[in-house]
Amino acid sequence: MSNQEKLRILVIGAHPADIFDQSGGTMAHHVKRGDWVGALVVTHGARIHDKVISNNLFTAATIPQGDKLENMMKDRADVKTEEVFCACEILGVKREDVHFLGEDDAVTLESKDTIRKIAQIIRKLRPNVIITHFPMENGGVECPHANTGKNVMRAIFWAGSVDPEDPNPANKVAQVFFFGGGAAWVRGGLWDSLHGYTNDVFIDITDVIELKLKAIDSMVSQAYAGAYARKRIECSDGAFGQRAGTSYAEPFIKLYAELHEYLPVTEDALKLSRMSDHEIIIRRSYKLKTD
Ligand SMILES: [Zn+2]
Repeated sequence: MSNQEKLRILVIGAHPADIFDQSGGTMAHHVKRGDWVGALVVTHGARIHDKVISNNLFTAATIPQGDKLENMMKDRADVKTEEVFCACEILGVKREDVHFLGEDDAVTLESKDTIRKIAQIIRKLRPNVIITHFPMENGGVECPHANTGKNVMRAIFWAGSVDPEDPNPANKVAQVFFFGGGAAWVRGGLWDSLHGYTNDVFIDITDVIELKLKAIDSMVSQAYAGAYARKRIECSDGAFGQRAGTSYAEPFIKLYAELHEYLPVTEDALKLSRMSDHEIIIRRSYKLKTD
């Protein structure tokens, strides 16, 4: 990969923790290789997964109204924004490369306004790779991740053209990688039975798994820090690693079919083909250091 052109990779998530949860290891890998990695978080995420808004208020007899609730939400959104900056710093993503649309996460809709804002950010940051949510997650039904994936897809299309309110020229991307499906890819609900797609790219993140753990540990406001982060990594990244022949991996679904000059056999596939079953089991067995 030494003659590989440096990539510009923009990771776009619906909620503050999504990009770390789904692609934190991959982000760290590309930063280490010298690629540019930027992040865009679409909603402030204060309504869901928040200790104060979605947990404490869940059991309250009455909900504060008007400015009081709005100010609480703003405070919690600020906390979550700082957590994103902190997690990005752990992975090596610079603060100036982290962007927020700050949308309310009550209901994430397919929206022309959101699409336009994302398109403008794409034209400004000029990525050639985008990582985002799978537009058919949960069947594409009432799913904020799916709607974000759809908004990003339309924004990619719009960013390939001009906008009278944007001085930046059009930008096209070379490839889109969608966050792969749930941990063991088993049916978690009715919509999952519609799957006709599979994770087709695995990134080996074993060498940066402790960094990913630290990044998820930063997500204190939604209770991901601590036991959950460890359990999630072992069950999910561990399951994908097991499938891919390593200890921990992140899965992706590639959008565009690829054109190659020669058959695309990866270095890792050749390496695995030369390992004994025992060596592969050892390779799969590295365990996260949890303290
Ligand atoms: Zn999310």
